[in-house]
Amino acid sequence: MLTDTHVHLDLPEYADDLSAVLTASCAAGVARWIVPAVNASAWPRLVQLHQQHRNLFYALGLHPWFLADDDAAALRALASWLERQPPGLVAVGECGLDSKVAVPMARQWQALEQQVALACQYHLPLILHSRGSHEPLLGMLRRRRPPAGGVLHGFSGSRQQAEQFIELGFALGIGGVITYPRAQKTRRAVAALPAQWLLLETDGPTMPLAGYQGQRNTPAQVAAVLAELAQLRQDDPPQLAKQIADNVVRIFPRLLTGPSAE
Ligand SMILES: [Zn+2]
Repeated sequence: MLTDTHVHLDLPEYADDLSAVLTASCAAGVARWIVPAVNASAWPRLVQLHQQHRNLFYALGLHPWFLADDDAAALRALASWLERQPPGLVAVGECGLDSKVAVPMARQWQALEQQVALACQYHLPLILHSRGSHEPLLGMLRRRRPPAGGVLHGFSGSRQQAEQFIELGFALGIGGVITYPRAQKTRRAVAALPAQWLLLETDGPTMPLAGYQGQRNTPAQVAAVLAELAQLRQDDPPQLAKQIADNVVRIFPRLLTGPSAE
């Protein structure tokens, strides 16, 4: 069974046909999903989605794109949600840094630092977003050493950068970017990295695979990402799938154990 470890199934793009999207995903062998939150107003819906779909899990957090002028209240609320450990919660995120958006960097840093502190406190893995910010993010992780690690999602970058995240206990979320021939650096990196540190994702509804530009991305496409990854690595696809399935539950142990196991 494959898992889409990063797919925004709570967004309006899926509102009309979510059940059909999940059915098609299962038919493609992708039968489990992790939905990272983008903002606080998404959290109740994520709990509800888990109640409706047993294999749909979620992370709670604040995405750097959607930070408000003052996130103090949302961050306090996040602490109490994590304290409550609602069923289906497996991680903190998605949080991180994005140098390509207008949200002031100081605000992004403040929200990130507090979410990392909460992940440390509750021993939860982090789902990290990073655009143009791998180096500062690595510096912060070296300072804080989140004990449950997590994933750098939507990985794009060099092998050297990826290895530094791995050293800190962070897997790389591999998505549709590797299907673009122009993504040479990333394709070379994922071909050389240890399989124990790779996860699969779509980041749907965005980040379409090559050949699907302009279309809604869906979790079924994880099967195509796996096929491309296996080809780049010259790995046997079923064996790679098995390794990645093991990685998923190692990085996100609450998929199996629920909140009470810590
Ligand atoms: Zn995302």
